[in-house]
Amino acid sequence: MMTPAWASELVTFVCADARVAEPRLAWRRRIGEHSTGVTRRHDGMIAVRAGSDEVDQRLTLLHELAHWLSPAARRRRRAVHHGREFYEIAFELYRRHGLTDADALRLESGRYRSALRHAVVLGVPGAAAALAKHRSVTRDRPRRRWRILVPEHRVQLERDGRWSICSTCRQRVVGMHLARIRRARRPVRHVLMTAS
Ligand SMILES: [Zn+2]
Ligand SMILES: [Zn+2]
Repeated sequence: MMTPAWASELVTFVCADARVAEPRLAWRRRIGEHSTGVTRRHDGMIAVRAGSDEVDQRLTLLHELAHWLSPAARRRRRAVHHGREFYEIAFELYRRHGLTDADALRLESGRYRSALRHAVVLGVPGAAAALAKHRSVTRDRPRRRWRILVPEHRVQLERDGRWSICSTCRQRVVGMHLARIRRARRPVRHVLMTAS
């Protein structure tokens, strides 16, 4: 698949603007709406697998260009891959190269939840509202509550048909856990929990 002209032009434009050397751009198709990308700094390359959504293609390429422009990971304090510094560059690129703030927030936070937090601090319009909405959705989602059904006790194996079970709490002991208990020199203890 040929690299679309707009994509090569965008790479040239962004890199000229930032006065950095251009990466090679490898462009392939992928099935589905969303695109994926990766930046290989030491190979001097950005690879994009482009889905069908053109806005998402553009965001994906700009996201990788933001990695390309981000200062290389420092030796001692490694720069965070998708940290504040990265998003400062990324959201600026999105805005300057034709993405609406709403599209940038929606698509970027669809991949990396933490993007919203950074966008709020960076003052991206709409970010605070999007974050508040996301938080209220998370809060309203019912959580599983775990409680202790049988307190901690020593596992004593007994047979129950083809299974090994703990004779105190009657839970099945299988696989690696079973092998570990059989091997153990000292008694192994466990708890029986239940979700409600
Ligand atoms: Zn990334
Ligand atoms: Zn037990």
